[in-house]
Amino acid sequence: EKQKKYIGMVEDCCCDYETVNKLNTEVLHPLLQDLVKTPFYRYFKVKLWCDCPFWPDDGMCRLRDCSVCECPESEFPEPFKKPLSKDNPVCQEGKPQGAVDRTVDTRAFTGWTVTDNPWTSDDETDNDEMTYVNLLLNPERFTGYIGPSARRIWDAIYSENCPKYASEQSCQEEKILYKLVSGLHSSISVHIASDYLLDEAKNLWGQNLTMLYDRVLRYPDRVRNLYFTFLFVLRAVTKAENYLVEAEYETGRDNVIEDLKTKSLMKQLFSDPKTRAACPLPFDEAKLWKGQRGPELKQQIQKQFRNISAIMDCVGCEKCRLWGKLQILGLGTALKILFTVNGEDNLRHNLELQRNEVIALMNLLNRLSESVKFVHEMSPVAERIAGDG
Ligand code: FAD
Repeated sequence: EKQKKYIGMVEDCCCDYETVNKLNTEVLHPLLQDLVKTPFYRYFKVKLWCDCPFWPDDGMCRLRDCSVCECPESEFPEPFKKPLSKDNPVCQEGKPQGAVDRTVDTRAFTGWTVTDNPWTSDDETDNDEMTYVNLLLNPERFTGYIGPSARRIWDAIYSENCPKYASEQSCQEEKILYKLVSGLHSSISVHIASDYLLDEAKNLWGQNLTMLYDRVLRYPDRVRNLYFTFLFVLRAVTKAENYLVEAEYETGRDNVIEDLKTKSLMKQLFSDPKTRAACPLPFDEAKLWKGQRGPELKQQIQKQFRNISAIMDCVGCEKCRLWGKLQILGLGTALKILFTVNGEDNLRHNLELQRNEVIALMNLLNRLSESVKFVHEMSPVAERIAGDG
Protein backbone atom coordinates (compact mmCIF):
# COMPACT_ATOMS: atom_id res chain seq x y z
CA GLU A 1 0.00 0.00 0.00
CA LYS A 2 2.61 2.48 1.17
CA GLN A 3 4.73 1.88 -1.89
CA LYS A 4 1.97 3.69 -3.75
CA LYS A 5 3.50 6.92 -2.50
CA TYR A 6 6.21 6.20 -4.99
CA ILE A 7 4.49 5.51 -8.23
CA GLY A 8 4.98 7.28 -11.51
CA MET A 9 8.10 9.06 -12.65
CA VAL A 10 10.93 9.89 -10.31
CA GLU A 11 10.80 13.70 -10.09
CA ASP A 12 12.89 15.40 -12.82
CA CYS A 13 13.94 12.01 -14.18
CA CYS A 14 12.93 9.91 -17.09
CA CYS A 15 12.07 6.56 -15.44
CA ASP A 16 9.40 5.42 -13.02
CA TYR A 17 9.88 4.00 -9.53
CA GLU A 18 8.75 0.50 -10.42
CA THR A 19 11.22 0.25 -13.30
CA VAL A 20 14.06 1.62 -11.19
CA ASN A 21 13.37 -0.94 -8.44
CA LYS A 22 13.20 -3.81 -10.90
CA LEU A 23 16.32 -2.75 -12.79
CA ASN A 24 18.21 -2.24 -9.56
CA THR A 25 17.20 -5.53 -7.97
CA GLU A 26 17.65 -7.68 -11.05
CA VAL A 27 20.67 -6.15 -12.78
CA LEU A 28 22.50 -3.26 -11.17
CA HIS A 29 22.69 -4.28 -7.54
CA PRO A 30 24.15 -7.78 -8.11
CA LEU A 31 26.69 -6.50 -10.66
CA LEU A 32 27.77 -3.55 -8.52
CA GLN A 33 28.15 -5.75 -5.45
CA ASP A 34 30.67 -7.88 -7.36
CA LEU A 35 32.35 -4.89 -8.93
CA VAL A 36 33.21 -3.08 -5.70
CA LYS A 37 34.98 -6.18 -4.39
CA THR A 38 37.48 -6.26 -7.26
CA PRO A 39 41.03 -5.01 -6.54
CA PHE A 40 40.60 -1.97 -8.78
CA TYR A 41 37.52 -0.72 -6.99
CA ARG A 42 38.27 -1.65 -3.41
CA TYR A 43 41.25 0.67 -2.88
CA PHE A 44 40.50 4.34 -2.51
CA LYS A 45 43.15 7.03 -2.25
CA VAL A 46 42.25 9.63 0.33
CA LYS A 47 43.69 12.35 2.52
CA LEU A 48 42.21 11.64 5.91
CA TRP A 49 44.08 14.10 8.10
CA CYS A 50 43.53 17.61 7.10
CA ASP A 51 42.69 20.74 8.94
CA CYS A 52 39.15 21.90 8.79
CA PRO A 53 39.26 25.27 7.04
CA PHE A 54 36.08 26.51 8.72
CA TRP A 55 36.27 25.84 12.47
CA PRO A 56 38.55 24.16 15.06
CA ASP A 57 38.53 20.40 15.09
CA ASP A 58 36.06 19.01 17.57
CA GLY A 59 36.39 15.31 16.75
CA MET A 60 33.41 13.77 18.46
CA CYS A 61 33.18 10.12 17.93
CA ARG A 62 32.08 7.79 20.62
CA LEU A 63 32.92 4.41 19.19
CA ARG A 64 36.17 2.79 18.26
CA ASP A 65 34.43 2.01 15.02
CA CYS A 66 35.10 5.56 13.88
CA SER A 67 38.66 4.90 12.91
CA VAL A 68 39.73 3.79 9.49
CA CYS A 69 42.01 0.86 9.00
CA GLU A 70 44.56 1.81 6.39
CA CYS A 71 46.27 -0.55 4.01
CA PRO A 72 49.83 -1.55 4.60
CA GLU A 73 51.80 -0.24 1.65
CA SER A 74 52.50 -3.74 0.40
CA GLU A 75 48.80 -4.36 -0.11
CA PHE A 76 47.77 -1.68 -2.52
CA PRO A 77 48.09 -2.15 -6.25
CA GLU A 78 51.49 -1.55 -7.83
CA PRO A 79 50.21 0.61 -10.75
CA PHE A 80 48.39 2.87 -8.28
CA LYS A 81 51.69 3.78 -6.60
CA LYS A 82 53.32 5.21 -9.70
CA PRO A 83 52.70 8.91 -10.08
CA LEU A 84 50.68 9.65 -13.19
CA SER A 85 52.44 11.98 -15.57
CA LYS A 86 51.31 15.55 -15.89
CA ASP A 87 52.62 15.70 -19.46
CA ASN A 88 49.45 16.69 -21.09
CA PRO A 89 47.62 19.05 -18.85
CA VAL A 90 44.36 20.36 -20.20
CA CYS A 91 43.75 23.90 -19.18
CA GLN A 92 40.55 24.25 -17.20
CA GLU A 93 40.57 28.01 -17.57
CA GLY A 94 38.81 29.38 -20.54
CA LYS A 95 36.84 26.22 -21.08
CA PRO A 96 33.59 27.35 -22.58
CA GLN A 97 30.70 26.94 -20.21
CA GLY A 98 27.10 26.75 -21.21
CA ALA A 99 25.37 24.30 -23.50
CA VAL A 100 25.48 20.64 -22.69
CA ASP A 101 24.78 17.83 -25.04
CA ARG A 102 24.27 14.17 -24.44
CA THR A 103 27.32 12.68 -26.10
CA VAL A 104 30.80 11.89 -25.01
CA ASP A 105 33.53 11.49 -27.60
CA THR A 106 33.78 7.81 -28.32
CA ARG A 107 37.53 7.73 -28.78
CA ALA A 108 37.31 7.69 -25.13
CA PHE A 109 40.04 6.38 -22.90
CA THR A 110 43.57 7.67 -23.32
CA GLY A 111 44.93 6.84 -19.87
CA TRP A 112 43.99 8.05 -16.41
CA THR A 113 44.31 11.76 -16.11
CA VAL A 114 45.67 14.02 -13.40
CA THR A 115 43.71 17.04 -14.52
CA ASP A 116 41.93 18.86 -11.72
CA ASN A 117 38.21 18.39 -11.39
CA PRO A 118 36.58 21.83 -11.28
CA TRP A 119 33.68 20.43 -9.25
CA THR A 120 35.70 19.20 -6.27
CA SER A 121 38.16 20.67 -3.83
CA ASP A 122 40.16 17.57 -3.17
CA ASP A 123 41.06 14.92 -5.63
CA GLU A 124 43.86 12.68 -6.74
CA THR A 125 45.99 15.53 -8.02
CA ASP A 126 46.52 16.62 -4.46
CA ASN A 127 49.12 14.08 -3.48
CA ASP A 128 50.23 15.23 -0.04
CA GLU A 129 49.62 12.78 2.75
CA MET A 130 47.33 10.62 0.69
CA THR A 131 46.82 7.13 1.88
CA TYR A 132 45.10 4.05 0.48
CA VAL A 133 42.14 2.51 2.22
CA ASN A 134 40.65 -0.90 1.59
CA LEU A 135 36.97 -0.02 1.48
CA LEU A 136 35.88 -3.58 2.17
CA LEU A 137 37.53 -3.40 5.59
CA ASN A 138 35.85 -0.08 6.39
CA PRO A 139 32.14 -0.42 5.69
CA GLU A 140 29.90 2.59 5.91
CA ARG A 141 27.71 1.98 8.93
CA PHE A 142 26.76 3.34 12.34
CA THR A 143 29.76 4.93 14.04
CA GLY A 144 28.23 6.86 16.94
CA TYR A 145 29.07 10.19 15.28
CA ILE A 146 26.13 12.23 16.51
CA GLY A 147 25.43 15.50 18.25
CA PRO A 148 26.48 19.07 17.50
CA SER A 149 29.56 18.16 15.46
CA ALA A 150 27.66 16.07 12.91
CA ARG A 151 24.74 18.49 12.94
CA ARG A 152 27.05 21.43 12.21
CA ILE A 153 28.33 19.75 9.06
CA TRP A 154 24.87 19.07 7.65
CA ASP A 155 23.73 22.57 8.65
CA ALA A 156 26.73 24.10 6.90
CA ILE A 157 26.04 22.06 3.79
CA TYR A 158 22.36 22.93 3.66
CA SER A 159 22.28 26.50 4.85
CA GLU A 160 25.40 27.84 3.21
CA ASN A 161 25.36 25.93 0.01
CA CYS A 162 21.96 24.77 -1.03
CA PRO A 163 19.16 26.24 1.03
CA LYS A 164 15.99 24.27 0.65
CA TYR A 165 14.43 25.81 -2.36
CA ALA A 166 11.30 27.85 -2.39
CA SER A 167 9.83 26.51 -5.56
CA GLU A 168 8.99 29.79 -7.27
CA GLN A 169 12.29 31.42 -6.46
CA SER A 170 15.03 29.07 -7.34
CA CYS A 171 15.70 27.56 -10.68
CA GLN A 172 15.85 23.94 -11.63
CA GLU A 173 19.63 23.79 -11.40
CA GLU A 174 19.70 24.95 -7.77
CA LYS A 175 17.02 22.46 -6.87
CA ILE A 176 19.18 19.75 -8.36
CA LEU A 177 22.12 20.55 -6.12
CA TYR A 178 19.82 20.44 -3.09
CA LYS A 179 18.31 17.15 -4.20
CA LEU A 180 21.69 15.55 -4.79
CA VAL A 181 22.88 16.44 -1.29
CA SER A 182 19.61 15.41 0.29
CA GLY A 183 19.64 12.12 -1.64
CA LEU A 184 23.17 11.41 -0.45
CA HIS A 185 22.16 12.32 3.12
CA SER A 186 19.26 9.84 2.87
CA SER A 187 21.63 7.18 1.62
CA ILE A 188 24.04 7.74 4.53
CA SER A 189 21.11 7.52 6.97
CA VAL A 190 19.93 4.30 5.31
CA HIS A 191 23.38 2.75 5.74
CA ILE A 192 23.46 3.75 9.40
CA ALA A 193 20.04 2.16 9.93
CA SER A 194 20.86 -0.99 7.96
CA ASP A 195 24.07 -1.70 9.85
CA TYR A 196 23.47 -0.43 13.38
CA LEU A 197 25.09 -1.30 16.70
CA LEU A 198 22.09 -2.82 18.46
CA ASP A 199 23.90 -3.92 21.62
CA GLU A 200 27.23 -2.35 22.45
CA ALA A 201 28.10 -4.80 25.24
CA LYS A 202 27.54 -7.80 23.00
CA ASN A 203 28.88 -6.06 19.89
CA LEU A 204 25.67 -7.03 18.15
CA TRP A 205 25.04 -5.37 14.76
CA GLY A 206 21.83 -5.42 12.76
CA GLN A 207 19.00 -3.45 11.18
CA ASN A 208 17.30 -0.59 12.96
CA LEU A 209 14.02 -0.19 11.10
CA THR A 210 12.65 2.37 13.53
CA MET A 211 15.59 4.58 12.68
CA LEU A 212 15.05 3.95 8.97
CA TYR A 213 11.51 5.20 9.37
CA ASP A 214 12.33 8.15 11.64
CA ARG A 215 15.16 9.51 9.54
CA VAL A 216 14.09 8.71 6.01
CA LEU A 217 10.76 7.02 5.31
CA ARG A 218 8.54 9.42 7.20
CA TYR A 219 9.76 12.19 4.89
CA PRO A 220 8.72 11.17 1.37
CA ASP A 221 10.87 13.89 -0.21
CA ARG A 222 13.98 12.26 1.29
CA VAL A 223 13.05 9.00 -0.40
CA ARG A 224 12.35 10.80 -3.67
CA ASN A 225 15.70 12.58 -3.48
CA LEU A 226 17.45 9.25 -2.92
CA TYR A 227 15.93 7.85 -6.12
CA PHE A 228 16.74 11.08 -7.96
CA THR A 229 20.40 10.94 -6.91
CA PHE A 230 20.62 7.29 -7.90
CA LEU A 231 19.30 8.04 -11.40
CA PHE A 232 21.49 11.11 -11.76
CA VAL A 233 24.64 9.10 -11.00
CA LEU A 234 23.43 6.23 -13.17
CA ARG A 235 22.99 8.66 -16.06
CA ALA A 236 26.57 9.93 -15.60
CA VAL A 237 27.85 6.35 -15.64
CA THR A 238 25.90 5.45 -18.79
CA LYS A 239 26.98 8.69 -20.48
CA ALA A 240 30.61 7.72 -19.86
CA GLU A 241 30.01 4.18 -21.11
CA ASN A 242 32.58 4.21 -23.92
CA TYR A 243 35.22 5.64 -21.66
CA LEU A 244 34.49 3.24 -18.82
CA VAL A 245 34.39 0.16 -21.03
CA GLU A 246 37.71 1.04 -22.64
CA ALA A 247 39.43 2.11 -19.44
CA GLU A 248 42.28 0.11 -17.99
CA TYR A 249 41.64 -1.71 -14.75
CA GLU A 250 45.03 -3.29 -14.16
CA THR A 251 46.19 -3.64 -10.58
CA GLY A 252 49.36 -5.69 -10.99
CA ARG A 253 50.74 -9.04 -12.00
CA ASP A 254 49.16 -10.97 -9.15
CA ASN A 255 45.65 -9.90 -10.05
CA VAL A 256 45.39 -10.63 -13.77
CA ILE A 257 42.29 -12.78 -13.49
CA GLU A 258 40.52 -10.46 -11.09
CA ASP A 259 41.31 -7.48 -13.32
CA LEU A 260 39.76 -9.24 -16.32
CA LYS A 261 36.70 -9.77 -14.20
CA THR A 262 36.54 -6.04 -13.45
CA LYS A 263 36.60 -5.26 -17.14
CA SER A 264 33.98 -7.87 -17.89
CA LEU A 265 31.67 -6.64 -15.12
CA MET A 266 31.93 -3.10 -16.49
CA LYS A 267 30.91 -4.39 -19.91
CA GLN A 268 28.01 -6.38 -18.48
CA LEU A 269 26.76 -3.31 -16.69
CA PHE A 270 26.18 -1.60 -20.01
CA SER A 271 25.44 -4.53 -22.27
CA ASP A 272 22.60 -5.98 -20.27
CA PRO A 273 19.61 -5.45 -22.56
CA LYS A 274 17.39 -4.80 -19.55
CA THR A 275 19.42 -1.74 -18.56
CA ARG A 276 19.05 -0.14 -21.97
CA ALA A 277 15.43 -0.99 -22.50
CA ALA A 278 14.21 -0.20 -19.02
CA CYS A 279 15.69 3.18 -18.45
CA PRO A 280 17.56 4.48 -21.49
CA LEU A 281 17.95 8.06 -20.25
CA PRO A 282 17.74 8.08 -16.43
CA PHE A 283 18.18 11.87 -16.30
CA ASP A 284 18.30 14.46 -19.09
CA GLU A 285 21.19 16.83 -18.49
CA ALA A 286 20.62 18.61 -21.81
CA LYS A 287 17.66 20.41 -20.24
CA LEU A 288 19.91 22.40 -17.91
CA TRP A 289 21.85 25.67 -18.17
CA LYS A 290 19.77 26.77 -21.10
CA GLY A 291 18.66 30.24 -20.05
CA GLN A 292 20.56 33.48 -20.29
CA ARG A 293 22.06 32.94 -16.86
CA GLY A 294 23.25 29.43 -17.80
CA PRO A 295 27.04 29.89 -17.76
CA GLU A 296 27.01 32.11 -14.68
CA LEU A 297 24.72 29.74 -12.84
CA LYS A 298 26.89 26.80 -13.68
CA GLN A 299 29.94 28.49 -12.20
CA GLN A 300 28.02 29.45 -9.09
CA ILE A 301 26.80 25.91 -8.53
CA GLN A 302 30.27 24.56 -9.24
CA LYS A 303 31.62 26.85 -6.52
CA GLN A 304 28.93 25.78 -4.07
CA PHE A 305 29.69 22.14 -4.72
CA ARG A 306 33.43 22.75 -4.22
CA ASN A 307 32.57 24.28 -0.84
CA ILE A 308 30.62 21.19 0.11
CA SER A 309 33.61 19.12 -0.89
CA ALA A 310 35.89 21.26 1.35
CA ILE A 311 33.50 20.88 4.31
CA MET A 312 34.24 17.15 4.26
CA ASP A 313 37.59 17.93 5.95
CA CYS A 314 35.58 19.01 8.98
CA VAL A 315 33.74 15.72 9.49
CA GLY A 316 34.90 14.70 12.96
CA CYS A 317 34.86 10.93 12.57
CA GLU A 318 37.39 9.25 10.37
CA LYS A 319 35.22 6.61 8.79
CA CYS A 320 32.43 9.12 8.11
CA ARG A 321 35.01 11.42 6.56
CA LEU A 322 36.27 8.59 4.35
CA TRP A 323 32.80 7.80 3.00
CA GLY A 324 31.80 11.46 2.92
CA LYS A 325 34.85 12.30 0.82
CA LEU A 326 34.41 9.30 -1.42
CA GLN A 327 30.75 9.99 -2.10
CA ILE A 328 31.19 13.73 -2.63
CA LEU A 329 34.04 12.97 -5.04
CA GLY A 330 31.71 10.49 -6.76
CA LEU A 331 29.01 13.14 -7.09
CA GLY A 332 31.60 15.67 -8.31
CA THR A 333 32.65 13.13 -10.93
CA ALA A 334 29.06 12.63 -12.03
CA LEU A 335 28.67 16.43 -12.33
CA LYS A 336 31.89 16.62 -14.31
CA ILE A 337 30.78 13.90 -16.73
CA LEU A 338 27.37 15.44 -17.23
CA PHE A 339 28.29 19.08 -17.40
CA THR A 340 31.92 19.65 -18.23
CA VAL A 341 31.96 17.88 -21.56
CA ASN A 342 30.75 20.56 -23.82
CA GLY A 343 28.63 20.30 -26.91
CA GLU A 344 30.60 22.66 -29.09
CA ASP A 345 33.92 21.62 -27.79
CA ASN A 346 33.56 17.90 -27.67
CA LEU A 347 36.54 17.24 -29.87
CA ARG A 348 38.99 19.41 -28.08
CA HIS A 349 37.89 18.45 -24.62
CA ASN A 350 37.40 14.74 -24.46
CA LEU A 351 36.25 13.30 -21.22
CA GLU A 352 39.20 12.88 -18.88
CA LEU A 353 38.83 11.14 -15.57
CA GLN A 354 41.16 10.35 -12.73
CA ARG A 355 41.40 6.75 -11.60
CA ASN A 356 40.25 7.75 -8.13
CA GLU A 357 37.26 9.60 -9.56
CA VAL A 358 36.06 6.45 -11.29
CA ILE A 359 36.60 4.41 -8.12
CA ALA A 360 34.52 6.98 -6.21
CA LEU A 361 31.84 7.14 -8.90
CA MET A 362 31.21 3.39 -9.05
CA ASN A 363 31.38 2.97 -5.27
CA LEU A 364 28.87 5.80 -4.90
CA LEU A 365 26.55 4.16 -7.43
CA ASN A 366 26.82 0.94 -5.44
CA ARG A 367 26.00 2.69 -2.14
CA LEU A 368 22.97 4.37 -3.70
CA SER A 369 21.89 1.08 -5.23
CA GLU A 370 22.11 -0.58 -1.80
CA SER A 371 20.05 2.21 -0.26
CA VAL A 372 17.36 2.05 -2.94
CA LYS A 373 17.13 -1.72 -2.49
CA PHE A 374 16.93 -1.50 1.31
CA VAL A 375 14.28 1.23 1.22
CA HIS A 376 12.25 -0.68 -1.37
CA GLU A 377 12.38 -3.96 0.53
CA MET A 378 12.12 -2.70 4.07
CA SER A 379 9.70 0.20 3.91
CA PRO A 380 6.53 -1.90 4.25
CA VAL A 381 7.89 -3.53 7.43
CA ALA A 382 9.38 -0.33 8.85
CA GLU A 383 6.14 1.55 8.23
CA ARG A 384 4.09 -1.17 9.89
CA ILE A 385 6.35 -1.05 12.98
CA ALA A 386 5.93 2.73 13.05
CA GLY A 387 2.14 2.37 12.83
CA ASP A 388 2.14 4.08 9.45
CA GLY A 389 1.37 1.00 7.34
P1 FAD B 1 21.11 14.21 10.78
O1 FAD B 1 21.20 13.06 9.84
O2 FAD B 1 22.37 14.77 11.36
O3 FAD B 1 20.33 15.39 10.01
C1 FAD B 1 20.41 16.76 10.43
C2 FAD B 1 19.17 17.50 9.92
O4 FAD B 1 19.18 17.53 8.48
C3 FAD B 1 17.85 16.80 10.27
O5 FAD B 1 17.38 17.21 11.52
C4 FAD B 1 16.93 17.27 9.15
O6 FAD B 1 16.43 18.55 9.40
C5 FAD B 1 17.86 17.36 7.97
N1 FAD B 1 17.84 16.13 7.14
C6 FAD B 1 18.07 14.85 7.55
N2 FAD B 1 18.05 14.01 6.49
C7 FAD B 1 17.80 14.78 5.40
C8 FAD B 1 17.67 14.49 4.01
N3 FAD B 1 17.81 13.24 3.53
N4 FAD B 1 17.38 15.51 3.19
C9 FAD B 1 17.25 16.77 3.63
N5 FAD B 1 17.40 17.11 4.93
C10 FAD B 1 17.66 16.12 5.81
N6 FAD B 1 27.15 8.64 11.10
C11 FAD B 1 27.38 7.32 11.18
O7 FAD B 1 26.97 6.68 12.14
N7 FAD B 1 28.04 6.65 10.17
C12 FAD B 1 28.49 7.28 9.06
O8 FAD B 1 29.10 6.67 8.17
C13 FAD B 1 28.28 8.69 8.95
N8 FAD B 1 28.73 9.39 7.88
C14 FAD B 1 28.55 10.74 7.86
C15 FAD B 1 29.06 11.45 6.77
C16 FAD B 1 28.91 12.82 6.73
C17 FAD B 1 29.47 13.57 5.56
C18 FAD B 1 28.25 13.52 7.79
C19 FAD B 1 28.10 15.00 7.76
C20 FAD B 1 27.74 12.81 8.85
C21 FAD B 1 27.89 11.42 8.90
N9 FAD B 1 27.38 10.69 9.97
C22 FAD B 1 27.59 9.34 10.03
C23 FAD B 1 26.52 11.32 10.97
C24 FAD B 1 25.03 11.16 10.57
O9 FAD B 1 24.83 11.57 9.23
C25 FAD B 1 24.09 12.00 11.43
O10 FAD B 1 24.50 13.35 11.40
C26 FAD B 1 24.01 11.55 12.89
O11 FAD B 1 23.71 10.19 12.93
C27 FAD B 1 22.94 12.35 13.66
O12 FAD B 1 21.67 12.18 13.03
P2 FAD B 1 20.40 13.08 13.31
O13 FAD B 1 19.23 12.20 13.47
O14 FAD B 1 20.69 14.07 14.37
O15 FAD B 1 20.12 13.87 11.92
